[in-house]
Amino acid sequence: MDELKQWQCTNGHALGVIMVNGDDVPQLMLYRHAVDLSSDEPAEVDVMIGPLVGKMPVQCDICGDVKPWDISVSALAELIISLPDKQVVQLQARVLRRQGRKEAKSYAAE
Ligand SMILES: [Zn+2]
Repeated sequence: MDELKQWQCTNGHALGVIMVNGDDVPQLMLYRHAVDLSSDEPAEVDVMIGPLVGKMPVQCDICGDVKPWDISVSALAELIISLPDKQVVQLQARVLRRQGRKEAKSYAAE
């Protein structure tokens, strides 16, 4: 079963909800607007259509607090696995090129 956890700013406003899917991957479902849970009548929650992908700062539109969301390695892996083969090959080539540049730099430093 999916687990749900509120994701809040430092002042306790709900910015979204963290869902852990069947593969133990935490995904942030962002609310369109922050919700003040301590209010007598909290606003109705309006959730974005899909999970937040990647790294992104999220600003609370009640108090202005900015909270960074970091993608986990497992969420990133799941995203890559879901790509079409052609994109996976392109990605692989880029990562290898980057590693090659790093190695070239470390040889140059010796
Ligand atoms: Zn806030």
